[in-house]
Amino acid sequence: MRFSGLLLLFLLIVFHGCTPIKKTIEKPKLAIISFVFDDLNTTDSVVKSIFDAFNFKPSFALTTNRLSSRTASLYKSYSDEGISILSHSHSHIKMQDPASVNKDTLLHEIKVSKQILESYGIPVLGFVTPNSYMHPDFLPLLKSDYTYAFTNNNDDNYDNSVQKHQLSRYGIESNISKSDHNIDTIKARIDKAIINKELLVLYGHALPSNYMDDFDKPRVNENDLRAILTYLKTKSSNHECLVLTSDLAIQAYYRQGFN
Ligand SMILES: [Zn+2]
Repeated sequence: MRFSGLLLLFLLIVFHGCTPIKKTIEKPKLAIISFVFDDLNTTDSVVKSIFDAFNFKPSFALTTNRLSSRTASLYKSYSDEGISILSHSHSHIKMQDPASVNKDTLLHEIKVSKQILESYGIPVLGFVTPNSYMHPDFLPLLKSDYTYAFTNNNDDNYDNSVQKHQLSRYGIESNISKSDHNIDTIKARIDKAIINKELLVLYGHALPSNYMDDFDKPRVNENDLRAILTYLKTKSSNHECLVLTSDLAIQAYYRQGFN
């Protein structure tokens, strides 16, 4: 807790400086990078141990119909360490087409998943839409339960013009090389986020990934994740970006009150 307090103080200094808060929209002073792993996979503990080795924290978006009392206590312990736990709905239904899912079903999915997580003492601020995209008609349903939500996959916009309930993420699996696992595209996107002072949230699933490369091997393995984190460690040690959990990342990035 003490560390989080210091971190928050540091962020306040970074984002506010010593001058009064301006009411006009201004660019954040530093890029923020975050990672969310979806779906509640048994390999989340592997992800966590890799992040621990870099002194970074991942975040996990959980589909609550996969949650048991045993896994709930594991994620509760992660949450107690400061890791962000997000809702990824209750049963992972698609939310992109109002013709195929009605509002009541969708509202139940987004409310009950949060209630289940909170019943285990896990605070939940964020939501991740199954299959990434939520139809805009449904967006108002999120606002009473979630501070922020990833509901969009349509563009490459990660700056502060994006509303907090219309955030997008950047896929590790879809951007790593399928032929030789090089992470050049991911590095380039991180570099662009640093230059433009963006909020770049990367996401993945199981580790090794269930998505396959050109040789029918997992598209992202433990070494690939280590390579990405090694690159980010250099950048964050160089004060070019912050690497934060999803809750802290959104809180810090939008602190200046533009959204
Ligand atoms: Zn999912």
